[in-house]
Amino acid sequence: MKRIAIFGSTGSIGTQALDVIRANPHLFEVEILTAHTNEELLIQQAKEFKPNAVVIVDEKKYSKVKDALAATDVKVFTGEQSLEEVAAFDTYDMMLAAIVGFAGLKPTLKAIDNKKAIALANKETLVVAGDIVMQRAVDNRVPIIPVDSEHSAIFQCLVGESRNKIDKIILTASGGPFRGKKPNFLLNVKRDHALQHPNWSMGAKITIDSATLMNKGLEMIEAKWLFNLAPEQIQVVVHPQSIIHSMVQFEDGSIKAQMGLPDMKLPIQYAMAFPQRIPNDFPRYDFKKINMLTFEEPDLKTFRNLALSMDALAKGGNLPCIMNAANEIAVWAFLRNRVGFLDMTDVIEKTMNYVPFIEKPTIEEYLESDGEARSYAASLIQL
Ligand code: NDP
Repeated sequence: MKRIAIFGSTGSIGTQALDVIRANPHLFEVEILTAHTNEELLIQQAKEFKPNAVVIVDEKKYSKVKDALAATDVKVFTGEQSLEEVAAFDTYDMMLAAIVGFAGLKPTLKAIDNKKAIALANKETLVVAGDIVMQRAVDNRVPIIPVDSEHSAIFQCLVGESRNKIDKIILTASGGPFRGKKPNFLLNVKRDHALQHPNWSMGAKITIDSATLMNKGLEMIEAKWLFNLAPEQIQVVVHPQSIIHSMVQFEDGSIKAQMGLPDMKLPIQYAMAFPQRIPNDFPRYDFKKINMLTFEEPDLKTFRNLALSMDALAKGGNLPCIMNAANEIAVWAFLRNRVGFLDMTDVIEKTMNYVPFIEKPTIEEYLESDGEARSYAASLIQL
């Protein structure tokens, strides 16, 4: 029985992880659940899965959660700091890091220091401070198992290949809802249109990141840290059907791919059960129904966020952290109709040029760079 702590249990990844646990009660037990503001769903989840503890970050919601769970043994915590407090508990085996954005970094670091295995969905953790996170994982002998479908694919391709050198990895991208569109079209795109992803149903932030291709840029940086790769070993190819989730090319030129229908429950389940594969009733890929897999170059001139990410990946230091912070602000503003689709890239680029570059930042310097980038990006949008 693996005891799982789901950080971000009310989100798209969190709720799908609970579906996996519900289907496998003999394998998994829920130990901790956390939410930001969605107290209704958190209460419902706590009543069903009876964890040891829950966190509702929003302090205004605390008494409602506490009252609703008064008749149970569930301990209720509140405030941002309590995420780290519960991450330091000894009573769980694996953290599913499924908080969105920079907010996931500190609790994940705390779980690593607490020697807990990490199933990592929160890619921003590695984008912001990948060197520190991976070093701490090595120091504490903590496995970091990717949940992101592309990285799960690469991880699965690498099983049994530890002695073999990787030539390169090929991250596949669906291209998002605006594949093939040009800037004159993107100028007028609104949030509701951008939120309609053709293949994946995900939280709002990652859906916008997929529409701008920032998601693929964040994933390139995530892959660098997870698989210890040089920037030139990471290639992106647009594959609109989202059947091949990513590929690894080895020294001998052989390419391994992991395939399946686009369904996040599979990589979530794989990370939670690793090294075991567990049976399920998820729909299967049928070659007769989707009988053509196609590939294209990404359009870096139109989707400039991907080009900016490649710069950040190549230069390293605190630049990915700065880019991530500016992107979080820009996406937040876009979702509230405060900036246009293309303005997001301008905000990110200007912020990357403004915040001072640090080649080898400490964790404090990463946190400062994040704060500085956020306030500069916000000032550009006049938030
Ligand atoms: P959602 O927006 O659906 O869910 C985010 C979760 O984090 C919710 O539980 C939310 O709580 C919580 N949360 C939000 N802000 C904070 C905060 N400041 N402090 C603490 N908790 C917070 O996101 P997704 O599930 O889509 O994505 C989660 C992560 O997984 C992201 O990093 C994303 O990039 C990554 N990922 C997601 C995929 C997907 O298919 N969704 C695929 C691959 C990676 P509340 O509900 O109360 O707001």
